[in-house]
Amino acid sequence: MYLTHLDCPRCGLEYAADKLQNLCECGSPLLARYDLPAVAKAVTPERFGLRPADLWRYRELLPVADPRHVTTLGEGWTPLLRTPSYGAEIGIADLMVKDEGLVPTGSFKARGAAVGVSRARELGVERIAMPTNGNAGSAWATYAARAGMGATIVMPLAAPTICRRECVAAGADLRLVDGLIGDAGRRVAELIAESDGAIFDAGTLREPYRLEGKKTMGYEIVEQLGWQVPDVIIYPTGGGVGLIGIHKALHEMRELGWVGDKLPRLVAVQSTGCAPIVRAFASGESRAQPWEDAHTVAFGITVPSPLGDELILAALRASAGTAVAVDDAEILADLRDFAAREGLLLCPEGAACLTAARQLRAGGWIRAGERVVVLNTGAGLKYPETVDVSGVPVLA
Ligand SMILES: *Cc1c(COP(=O)(O)O)cnc(C)c1O
Ligand SMILES: [Zn+2]
Repeated sequence: MYLTHLDCPRCGLEYAADKLQNLCECGSPLLARYDLPAVAKAVTPERFGLRPADLWRYRELLPVADPRHVTTLGEGWTPLLRTPSYGAEIGIADLMVKDEGLVPTGSFKARGAAVGVSRARELGVERIAMPTNGNAGSAWATYAARAGMGATIVMPLAAPTICRRECVAAGADLRLVDGLIGDAGRRVAELIAESDGAIFDAGTLREPYRLEGKKTMGYEIVEQLGWQVPDVIIYPTGGGVGLIGIHKALHEMRELGWVGDKLPRLVAVQSTGCAPIVRAFASGESRAQPWEDAHTVAFGITVPSPLGDELILAALRASAGTAVAVDDAEILADLRDFAAREGLLLCPEGAACLTAARQLRAGGWIRAGERVVVLNTGAGLKYPETVDVSGVPVLA
């Protein structure tokens, strides 16, 4: 294993990686660091192509020491699809969609859960707990079950019921709250405090390894493009783990010498019903203020007060990226339009990225000829109500 330590991106404090850690004492998330010069000596990019088609092909850049601790359901190496018909319609000829709907539990949360649970198991955790908007709970409950670990999950009543069912099926201790993810977070904090160390806090960015799982999307995009970077990567941002992870992966690859100096511009997409990052980006702030009365069909990105706000905003600015808010009616219209043209039913969060792509191209921020990658972060099948079938005729 090439993991060396954890460090704090805010205050610079370093922490040992061989024992359980949550946030830095200053309150910031911690980042996992590797001996990258040693990785560059140990493996070349061509090697990855000879390995199994899952995220563990990047094991030198992942935090699990003993392969016996790897908890897997075959996650990762999702297709990067060309979408020429929809792309032509919106003026982006080289538009691609990375379809994370195909990972176990139907969302890219499985990447974070696979790596997070594997590392937690390696460090002796017996029960994890987290607040969730649905998909993270499904994924962590599922991987915890597979690792023989307990999971306590708290989610809003309004979260997709399929996620509730997945948690129950996986034997998790599931609790519901009549509120938003922040309310669920307060209940989780109480349960952890009462547990006297028996429950490990695996909430978004509260432990450093979920991010490591999600960063593999960045490695995959670049490997799938023949170790070339696209011009723009568009990501539906809730807690921002995927965006921070892709940014981290791109910088690791640059340091490893696997990509050149020029990196993609990163775009954070939010809903006009919950856009704390977009607001902070537009006003030049380094922190985001909590969003009041959050609501959107894109449930996975309803995060009014993301813990990783500083890291998200820093990644957007460092990459010369931007942040865009899109409204629910347009998200649903693009979801339908895309499905009819390309045959893939996106999740609303993925569709939100298409709306953003369309608007950024129309406004000239995305230039003609640029290669644009959109993340479809989950399976459209988990959100059947996005398609209205009430007008379908019944034959006599
Ligand atoms: C969680 C989630 C997101 C947002 O992911 P973050 O890493 O929290 O920004 C986007 N789409 C779907 C489908 C999700 O479940
Ligand atoms: Zn710190």
